[in-house]
Amino acid sequence: MLNDLLVIGTGISGLTFAIKVAEQSPKLKITIISKGDMSEGNTRYAQGGIAVVRNLKDDSIEKHIQDTIIAGDGECDSHVVKFVIEEANARLNELINWGAEFDKNKEKLDLGIEGGHSEKRIVHYKDQTGKQIQDVLSKKLKSFPNINLLENHTLVDLITDHHSIEKKGRCYGAYVISQEREEIIKICSKITVLSTGGAGSLYAYSTNPSTATGDGLGAAYRAKVRMDRLAYVQFHPTALRDRVNNNVFLITEAVRGAGGILLNSKKERFMLKIDKRAELAPRDIVAREIHKQIKEQKEDFVWLDGSEIAVDVWKSNFPTIYKTCISQGILLPKDPIPVVPAAHYFCGGIRVNENSESELKGLYAIGECSSTGLHGANRLASNSLLEALVFSHRAAIHSVKSLLNPLPNEEFYKVLPAWNGEGYSKSDTLRNVEKLRKELQKNMTQHVGIFKTHEGLKLAEHKVNKIYIQVSKLYNEKKLTYGLSELRNLVSISYLIIKQAQQIKKNKGVFYIQDYDKKFYKTLQKST
Ligand SMILES: Cc1cc2nc3c(=O)[nH]c(=O)nc-3n(C[C@H](O)[C@H](O)[C@H](O)COP(=O)(O)OP(=O)(O)OC[C@H]3O[C@@H](n4cnc5c(N)ncnc54)[C@H](O)[C@@H]3O)c2cc1C
Repeated sequence: MLNDLLVIGTGISGLTFAIKVAEQSPKLKITIISKGDMSEGNTRYAQGGIAVVRNLKDDSIEKHIQDTIIAGDGECDSHVVKFVIEEANARLNELINWGAEFDKNKEKLDLGIEGGHSEKRIVHYKDQTGKQIQDVLSKKLKSFPNINLLENHTLVDLITDHHSIEKKGRCYGAYVISQEREEIIKICSKITVLSTGGAGSLYAYSTNPSTATGDGLGAAYRAKVRMDRLAYVQFHPTALRDRVNNNVFLITEAVRGAGGILLNSKKERFMLKIDKRAELAPRDIVAREIHKQIKEQKEDFVWLDGSEIAVDVWKSNFPTIYKTCISQGILLPKDPIPVVPAAHYFCGGIRVNENSESELKGLYAIGECSSTGLHGANRLASNSLLEALVFSHRAAIHSVKSLLNPLPNEEFYKVLPAWNGEGYSKSDTLRNVEKLRKELQKNMTQHVGIFKTHEGLKLAEHKVNKIYIQVSKLYNEKKLTYGLSELRNLVSISYLIIKQAQQIKKNKGVFYIQDYDKKFYKTLQKST
């Protein structure tokens, strides 16, 4: 069956896009897939909110633009920043009309503040903004008869000219693991949209769910689609190390916005010496300083002290964090929270234009897997949900129009080959896969994390090449498994991040190579 549109991913970007297309064009055939349950992705975990200028008395579009550009450290595309921020209100209003609820103060939306913002402009729903949005969009999506939702369907590769005799220079759909049918199926489509999210799983500690393995980025790389800014990986400064589940749990910046302060093991409020915005400085500055404090104090974490936040505020504004902390024996607000930085967000990705089109015809990329130019070298807090809303809207309008252009006919798609690998195996018994994934994460955490060195990048590249050889061998000799497919993508992205990092000649935003910072070396020499 030939689809008009194939959407890969059911987070805020994929769902918003599909809904908008279905609303405009009820006759178009749309298939949307998610690799697991449709609600699992980064969107669902977003806590802080969406940055939108609502209070024109104190705030302005210009101030939000400036804050975004300052955070992006000279790497933002100012044209993109301008239109995203100007279109923010219209997109937020649509979301509200679709049923999304946000916290209010009397009749008006309650606005929070987060790091890097000069005014209160974060629209939120408790500490569950993402879940609120995910639930509303998921419900709405299911109301459209022309949308075919396939959960447990995992993108393996895009179908491109590589698979076709006639070279039309387009994307024709995707090869997808159907977990139900236990085979790799071909889904053909006139337009394909990647909205597959980020790749936090590259690192040992990440705020992302384990499914964030950059599958869209890996598939785009194999299809030779241009990608940029991949080395700008944002680490969130404050994640609670969850010792019970051996992972980390995000403590939103809004906690610092509400009065939370950071203390080192000597109980010193160290951010005061670093930046006049103290705990609310942009994330890269706070994350780097926490990392430094941890090293200097020879501790595993620093403290986030929220004792000035009333217990009622904890319970009403941060119910998920409150419950999680209590379950770990941290009695809020009295007890401080032990926090560490964790891999959080990919500022770069598939290079797209202002309509979210990639450089491969027929392929769009929206949301965290894309690189629009909004974030530059560092995403300003709560600008990513906004980016997803604005670009889904633009891509929906543009892609529907583009379907009016002459396109390959149905016969062309029919003769595209079926998946020609060894096939798919449900059993994930390839023990090597888990081992290699852990090795890769260790390597990226050690050498390609918050602090990098040229020497470390070289070591990391060498290790990634070794892992790549083993993964290619497994891929060529064994049936493809779900885990192997994820690992193949993680290795490709690691390689790309390292190569792009090696080309950056100056520290910018979240990107930091110690060799470029003479001051750091001085402190290092003093302390050793
Ligand atoms: C803990 C946390 C808190 C955050 N808080 C905020 C915040 O307060 N404000 C803000 O603006 N941003 C926040 N972010 C960032 C923001 O949530 C994400 O950037 C955004 O939700 C990404 O949306 P998306 O639609 O691009 O991807 P996602 O929501 O990650 O969705 C990805 C989708 O792709 C699917 N997928 C992936 N691979 C495949 C495959 N191979 N085959 C098929 N489907 C696939 C997944 O199943 C999923 O449906 C936060 C992120 C995290 C992790």
